[in-house]
Amino acid sequence: MFINDQVISVIFIFAGICLFIFLWFLAPYIWRLYEVKKLRKLCSDAGAVVLTFDDGPHHELSKNIMQLLDKNSIKGSFFFLGSNAVNFPDVVDTIKKRGHDIGHHSYAHFNAWKSLPHTHIKDIYRGEQEVTKLGGNKTLFRPTYGKISLASWLFGLLRGYQFCWWTIDPKDSLENPRPYADILAEIKVNNGGVILLHDNDTYPDENHSDYVLGLIQGIIELAEKDDLKILSFSQLNAINFSSVN
Ligand SMILES: [Zn+2]
Repeated sequence: MFINDQVISVIFIFAGICLFIFLWFLAPYIWRLYEVKKLRKLCSDAGAVVLTFDDGPHHELSKNIMQLLDKNSIKGSFFFLGSNAVNFPDVVDTIKKRGHDIGHHSYAHFNAWKSLPHTHIKDIYRGEQEVTKLGGNKTLFRPTYGKISLASWLFGLLRGYQFCWWTIDPKDSLENPRPYADILAEIKVNNGGVILLHDNDTYPDENHSDYVLGLIQGIIELAEKDDLKILSFSQLNAINFSSVN
């Protein structure tokens, strides 16, 4: 069969596009799947539930969550947006002083798959800077939308971030969050997990705060009944570190 230069060029362009898609999107996505699997196993082996809160801080809900956690002597992990942290430095300070984790979650919540690489990386870096200036932990990073590209993956690794994924998503930021019973059953069947919640007062309506606080209460009761530990990411890391040394 005769193959002319034009056909060869088309094949090369097609192969180049496939390689780009693989490296840019699929490789970090596959890595994420692997890391989530490891995290699920770590929680299961430890019988641990990690409560995580994204997109805060805000007026009311961040403090209400903190008070509920404090009342039960448990620690949570907050992943603050830089743009919110600068508006509520007192909330950041109070949560920090109570010993909860404060990680970062970008400045303006850009999506890695929908932004230009330099725009997204600048957003991550600015979020890191603003949150750490207020006492946050540089290492603890939660990618926005759970998405990373090759650029943000490498940037995070170079900055020494721990990518703090989740394993259970109640979908509390959507109009129809999952029923409590489903989430508690998922925790039970996995013997733990990392729960994704949001401490932003505006999501998605006035029922959101009640939903989040009610779910936390339900998880605390489940943990007591099933002998599960509720830990922050730092506390889970400490267990992981001691088990591999
Ligand atoms: Zn977010």
